[in-house]
Amino acid sequence: TKRDKLTVDDYVQGILAGDRMLLARAITLIESNSPKHMELAQAVLQRILPYSGNSIRVGITGVPGAGKSTFIEAVGCILCQKGHKLAVLAVDPSSSITRGSILGDKTRMENLSREKNAFIRPSPSGGTLGGVTRKSRETLLLCEAAGYDIILVETVGVGQSEITVRSMVDFFLLVVLTGAGDELQGMKKGVMEIADAILVNKADGDNKQKAEMVKVDYERMLHYLRPATEGWQTKAYTCSAVTGAGIAEIWQVIHTFRDKMMENHAFLNRRKVQTLEWVYAMVEDHLRSVFYQNANVKANRLFIENQVAADQLSATMAAQKLIDAFEKS
Ligand code: GDP
Repeated sequence: TKRDKLTVDDYVQGILAGDRMLLARAITLIESNSPKHMELAQAVLQRILPYSGNSIRVGITGVPGAGKSTFIEAVGCILCQKGHKLAVLAVDPSSSITRGSILGDKTRMENLSREKNAFIRPSPSGGTLGGVTRKSRETLLLCEAAGYDIILVETVGVGQSEITVRSMVDFFLLVVLTGAGDELQGMKKGVMEIADAILVNKADGDNKQKAEMVKVDYERMLHYLRPATEGWQTKAYTCSAVTGAGIAEIWQVIHTFRDKMMENHAFLNRRKVQTLEWVYAMVEDHLRSVFYQNANVKANRLFIENQVAADQLSATMAAQKLIDAFEKS
């Protein structure tokens, strides 16, 4: 096909020139599971790496219906009009199961998708959270090299994906609603601990007063939590993604965060730590799969598990036996 004929140079030059089509094609390479594409993608990445990093990376999470895409569209249009180049990415490991991503969907951000300075890419589908993570991180780097100075990474507020997105962004924004049931509070506490700001959305009409009250509740809860970023006080804010109230203000908060964290070097230090953590996460992923695919481990596993279940073998001894099976194979 034509795609295969493009060289590393073609991709690199196209991306650096801000060519959206070549950027999109390079991302498709990153997302491909074929070894040939992977090799080409890695060669491209290696070359664009020196041109990456020039952005603010913002993660956005919240339960479905919280208003993430409405918010992204509202803030995105403002930023594009100010001359920024904005990329919207999504991390949704469940999209392979539910068939079809509900995040980063262009039809949900119709106005923004018409902006020439906005680039919207839905979550890569298929594969594990680890696979999706790699693809999203590498896509983020390509977008930066293509001149996108604001990267928004959207994820749903359920499960493990928020932690993953937290590990690839500078600033993490939690979008919440009023009137969420108490049963959600437990889950939210974990997410609150990794948020740099909590945004109570839909603060409009009849809901405005309620939203202000909920904001105060969140501020009170935050008081007992350790801040997600050292040297930064996580606070709660209100906004309406529909009327636009509070949108410019929350972006100002993100700006202040960047300036402050740049000043004390926490910004770039965190990125270095994030990259190294990613390196070792990939090493661990690989080792884990090598272990479980090992023929000798597979052959001994059931027997050892049964012995553990029958209280004939301690957990520690069982682990040792499995490791022995692996190492002696
Ligand atoms: P997401 O699933 O988190 O991306 O949520 P959406 O952005 O799709 O929003 C879910 C619903 O809430 C849609 O019907 C939106 O129109 C509505 N919505 C989003 N933001 C606001 C807001 O600020 N005020 C009001 N009244 N409705 C909103």
